[in-house]
Amino acid sequence: MKVLLLRFGELYLKGNNRNLFEGQLINNIKEMLAGEEFKFSKTFGRYVISNYKDEREGEIVTKLGRVFGLHSFSRAEEIDATPESIQAEVEKIDLDGKSFKVIVKRADKSFPIKSMDFASSLGGVMLKKYPSSRVDLYNYDTEINVDIRMNGKAYVYTTLIKGQGGLPLKTAGKGLLLLSGGIDSPVACYLMAKRGMTMEAVHFHSYPYTSERAKEKVFSLAKILSGYVGQIKLHVISFTKIQESIHVHCKPEFMITIMRRIMMRIAEKLCEQNGLGAIVTGESLGQVASQTMQSMTVTGSVISSLPVFRPCIAMDKEEIMAIANKIDTYETSILPYEDCCTVFLPKNPVIKPTIEKAEKEESHLDIEALVKEALATEEIIYIK
Ligand code: ATP
Ligand code: MG
Repeated sequence: MKVLLLRFGELYLKGNNRNLFEGQLINNIKEMLAGEEFKFSKTFGRYVISNYKDEREGEIVTKLGRVFGLHSFSRAEEIDATPESIQAEVEKIDLDGKSFKVIVKRADKSFPIKSMDFASSLGGVMLKKYPSSRVDLYNYDTEINVDIRMNGKAYVYTTLIKGQGGLPLKTAGKGLLLLSGGIDSPVACYLMAKRGMTMEAVHFHSYPYTSERAKEKVFSLAKILSGYVGQIKLHVISFTKIQESIHVHCKPEFMITIMRRIMMRIAEKLCEQNGLGAIVTGESLGQVASQTMQSMTVTGSVISSLPVFRPCIAMDKEEIMAIANKIDTYETSILPYEDCCTVFLPKNPVIKPTIEKAEKEESHLDIEALVKEALATEEIIYIK
């Protein structure tokens, strides 16, 4: 019977949490495949997906490729774990003119032949059957895997598809993503989701300075991200009044610093209101003036109750772009609609602000009232 054999990696390390993690991973797999016809079963250390429609296989593989916590998977033939049936299955593999290697893994030690012995015996059978083939343990065209499990079944396969890795979604709490329309914040979302975090998101817009299309672009990004993290509750907040006030009352070079600090304050409030445990941003050290060490000290200092996660912090733009491409957000991120941060943008933002100077600029504003007013503009959109 044709099946998909799934492996999970890091779960092994999690001691007492293992059951919790595994239960969640299984739920996540089933949720990802909702609407598909299939049977799910477990053997120690592996999951098996079977009884699916042939023509759905490609789509199922694509969906499994988005499940965090799955290490790799293979299209395999499931057969009874007897030497005869395994050999018969292996013999179906076409090795004409090919170099190959055979790997046997025996989780079931009651299987009568030792792994190494069985691998070389199968190799001998194949060499005889395909005289033009040859064994090469390092430089092979085909790797024949025989996986003998504890359930009385064996799995024969030649392909290995890499999964997402990471930890199952929903095992690491829920955070709030600061989602702009740029390249970095969607990547930050994906990276934290890969460690098991789910997320709500907040987007600040500056309508009418920014267009409706800029907002729609953010919805599109959230939609793509929901393919990885599930439904996203998106909080959309008007930043217009805040930007206008800063523009009028503060020194231009402090515009971005003060904006960021107010974004952080609003984010912290949203976390309180929605039971969220961390703030996530797409900041990367040194990328722009607002992302120097000093700038991040000054923006981060308004947050006292939560950690701020910045998973892109040590990445080059190229590395971030490569991930954006992989998760399919790049093309949307580069659409040229104004972000709220580009409105009123100063020519020379401070590179090394201090908390004292930022506080001095902020003394010209009624921060509490601005935060409250901004929160009152909140629209909530569920995106899936
Ligand atoms: P990105 O590509 O994510 O927009 P960026 O390199 O353009 O990042 P900035 O514009 O300085 O960087 O923003 C830094 C971080 O602040 C973003 O990654 C995002 O998390 C947050 N942020 C910026 N603008 C907004 C916004 N309009 N709404 C929500 N979060 C924002
Ligand atoms: Mg940006």
